[in-house]
Amino acid sequence: MEKLLSVESARKIILEKFQIKDSLLLPVSESLGRVLSRDVYAILDLPSFNNSSMDGFAVIVENIRNASNEKPVELMIIEDIAAGMAPKQTINNLQASRIMTGAPVPAGADAVVPVEFTNFSDRYYQKELPASILVNRSVSIGDYIRPQGQDIQKGERIFSQGHQLRPQDLGFLAAQGFKKIETVTQPVIALLSSGDELAQPGEVLQPGKIYDSNTIIIKSLLESFGATVINLGIARDNLEDIKNKLINIQSMHVDLLVSTAGVSVGVYDFIRDVILEDGSLSFWKVNMRPGKPLTFGEYKKVPFVGLPGNPVSAYVSTLVFIKPIINQLLGMQEKINLNTAILEEEIRSDGRESYLRAEISFDQTNYKAKLTGHQGSGNIFSLVCANALLIIPAGVKSLPEGNKVNFFWI
Ligand code: AMP
Ligand code: MG
Repeated sequence: MEKLLSVESARKIILEKFQIKDSLLLPVSESLGRVLSRDVYAILDLPSFNNSSMDGFAVIVENIRNASNEKPVELMIIEDIAAGMAPKQTINNLQASRIMTGAPVPAGADAVVPVEFTNFSDRYYQKELPASILVNRSVSIGDYIRPQGQDIQKGERIFSQGHQLRPQDLGFLAAQGFKKIETVTQPVIALLSSGDELAQPGEVLQPGKIYDSNTIIIKSLLESFGATVINLGIARDNLEDIKNKLINIQSMHVDLLVSTAGVSVGVYDFIRDVILEDGSLSFWKVNMRPGKPLTFGEYKKVPFVGLPGNPVSAYVSTLVFIKPIINQLLGMQEKINLNTAILEEEIRSDGRESYLRAEISFDQTNYKAKLTGHQGSGNIFSLVCANALLIIPAGVKSLPEGNKVNFFWI
């Protein structure tokens, strides 16, 4: 029997070669998708002052305790406080200030009465500050005031190291007044596709040729995981062309070189020969499907992963092996979001850890999984039709309809 390495062991051997990159101070405005290199703490209370959550009047609750439609309470208006203004007057007995949403609550006031609870309800015809208003409903202390520090208090931790910044995170950093933030330097990956059969979209397809789909799939995946990709293009199946495409690899200062195809036992598979001229290689048969052949090593001191040529194998191997490398370079915890679905059909496997293309639907109670078509490693359409990959553990050869299966979204 062939000796197959488990997915887990292969990943472990690979990850030992990588460590977190240096940190880099970046403008917050350029930090979407970047990863924090250290914990970040609040430097401001938010809100940073008590402010009104409604357009209305800042009042003393005691004054309007018994206010009703029948017995409205008249309050004298002493100031107009718009958002962005600092109040100058203190509210005293039977006084109020007009206040807008987001404006600071003046000293002396302990609540805001929304404009709807007063006789001053038509803001279009009553723009002028009235001398007095009638309040016809009571409120409680603190009503319609957003207190200082309600959202976060100075000194509290906002984010932990390893957090990948999303749009709302950038907004929060901006709300805290951060202009720059310490992030992990983005990993840089050089990507080389190979094959005499490959043509570029836009070219006329000659007999025997196919369009290159791996380059765009792998490049997009790597970028979505947070790496920058240097596309080295397509190498033809000969030693010279492969060497030429890799000639400047050292001066590019990449963290990883990734190739697709050309590493199996075919007569025209030359990548291994090139790598071995100035590096080292481990060839593994990994106990997974698709993506059994995996190559890992070093070329001119640059870590190297040789992905299989078949597009679905290359895709799955990128998720299973290269995403964890990028996470490690970024200092991110590996987050595996596994869900469970019920099989709508019987599934057969050959006992390798299998990643099957499936469409997951939801029937009010459970996720349900059905395969999206032929599972051959060259069939990208069944990957296009899939919204998830089912994981069939190593050693399992069949699962009946109705059985539970783990999956992750793609
Ligand atoms: P190889 O590993 O070179 O034997 O390639 C395995 C299979 O993957 C062959 O059918 C190739 O034509 C196909 N293949 C290799 N590279 C690409 C690519 N960039 N885009 C699409 N298919 C590819
Ligand atoms: Mg080939």
